[in-house]
Amino acid sequence: MRSDCIFCKIGTGQIPSRVVYQDEDVFAFEDGNPQAPVHVLVIPKRHIDALSDMRDGDHAVVAHLLEVGVLIAKKKGIAESGYRIVVNNGQDAGQTVFHLHFHVLGGRRMNWPPG
Ligand code: 5GP
Ligand code: ZN
Repeated sequence: MRSDCIFCKIGTGQIPSRVVYQDEDVFAFEDGNPQAPVHVLVIPKRHIDALSDMRDGDHAVVAHLLEVGVLIAKKKGIAESGYRIVVNNGQDAGQTVFHLHFHVLGGRRMNWPPG
């Protein structure tokens, strides 16, 4: 828990959010500024700055984040139509919150390549 981290506070419920899923290690909530009809963020409860800051012990939780992303896509009814799971890592990718999160996006046609 980092006291200056907004997603740590969301993960512990100190800052309210629209919760989609949670278990011992993972928390998922509706993005506050959705970029698609479905836009959910999946985070580890334990603070990790970014994907490139994963340590040996973090691999299982990162795999679990992906698993939960797939589960949420099913729960939100976009598994058949298609969806995207995105991690922005670092400045050039547009990462703005430095607590690792997977975006689960769907419910509309996506463009490729991403902007
Ligand atoms: P990034 O740009 O770091 O990949 O994504 C950060 C995401 O967090 C953005 O999509 C932004 O809308 C979302 N976000 C930032 N602050 C909050 C917040 O306080 N509550 C919620 N629900 N989403 C947030
Ligand atoms: Zn954090």
